[in-house]
Amino acid sequence: MIYIHIPFCKSRCLYCDFFSSTSPALMDVFVASLLKEMDGRAEELRAARADTVYLGGGTPSQLGAERLRTIFDHLLALVETESDAEVTLECNPDDVTADFLHGLRDTPVNRISMGVQTLDDGLLRMLRRRHTAREAREAVALLHGAGYTNLSLDLMYGLPGQTLEMWRHDVAALLSWGIPHLSAYSLQWEEGTPLYIMLERGEVEEAPEELSLEMYRCLVASAREAGMEHYEISNFALPGRRSRHNSGYWRDVPYAGLGPGAHSYDGKYVRSSNPSDLAGYIKAAGMPVRNVEMLDVDMLYEERVLKSLRTAEGLNLASLSAKHRDYALSMAMPHIMAGRMVRIGNMLRLTEEGIFVSNDVMSDMML
Ligand code: SF4
Repeated sequence: MIYIHIPFCKSRCLYCDFFSSTSPALMDVFVASLLKEMDGRAEELRAARADTVYLGGGTPSQLGAERLRTIFDHLLALVETESDAEVTLECNPDDVTADFLHGLRDTPVNRISMGVQTLDDGLLRMLRRRHTAREAREAVALLHGAGYTNLSLDLMYGLPGQTLEMWRHDVAALLSWGIPHLSAYSLQWEEGTPLYIMLERGEVEEAPEELSLEMYRCLVASAREAGMEHYEISNFALPGRRSRHNSGYWRDVPYAGLGPGAHSYDGKYVRSSNPSDLAGYIKAAGMPVRNVEMLDVDMLYEERVLKSLRTAEGLNLASLSAKHRDYALSMAMPHIMAGRMVRIGNMLRLTEEGIFVSNDVMSDMML
């Protein structure tokens, strides 16, 4: 699996603390550095295999089709992709134009992930998103028209001022657009973001927890009714349309991450990352000093628990050492008794009630 971080956004959304720059002047030199990083890590890229490639950000569609072609041409010259590789590009609705999609035809992109977030224009404006509900709908129509039907849309709930009715409408509308994949995240109040500062000043209010839970329940029920599998806490897909790339992260598949801030994992004990520093990345011609972390057995246990309990399959107790298995079972027992977890054979997973309080359950399972 290969991940490429594209650290550019046209402007910054109020709630976001992801790493990205709003300086388009740096795009060309960034791409040149990225190609150099690919050359310098070609062996690692081959070992990680390009059965899935994911361009995330930031806003990868901001680079424009020509730069994206340059990136893919270079990657494909170094690493053979498999014929059924899943190649995902994150897009923002305002970048999806007929010209852009025409230019994308010469790339291997076959899956689009697009952040819609809400269909309420007032909320979109408040969050400083760059699109309207109508533009999101038109972007989906353009993507369908261009043959990009393997489409995942993102929504957000628990937004300040968002009502249950608004949310019901958003979920129903997106599910009626014929998409095979939906991701929905509750708003995270990240310290230091403009939205967090507004919260501290009393200019916005957090959504009540009960309302967020209601929204989540409505989401789960609606996605199920639409025939989707709830395969991860925040992800829903029609049968056979799960994100292979993200599923790989949850199954500890090795991956190589390129670009500033991107993480890599050898599938065993070594996790590494490029610093989240675009200027430093460019200065080091795509080969900055990487942060390297060796995972010990306890860290591996905790990672395993955190990732696998997010999924519908759950935690395979047989994959743990005897010591960690005993510990996991003893910590899970009160949650099993309370109906928040269920054990079937060697598999331990969260029930729907458990998913609502997943952070608490997972924190109990930590060492
Ligand atoms: S477009 Fe995405 S990455 Fe960029 S600021 Fe908005 S939420 Fe963050």
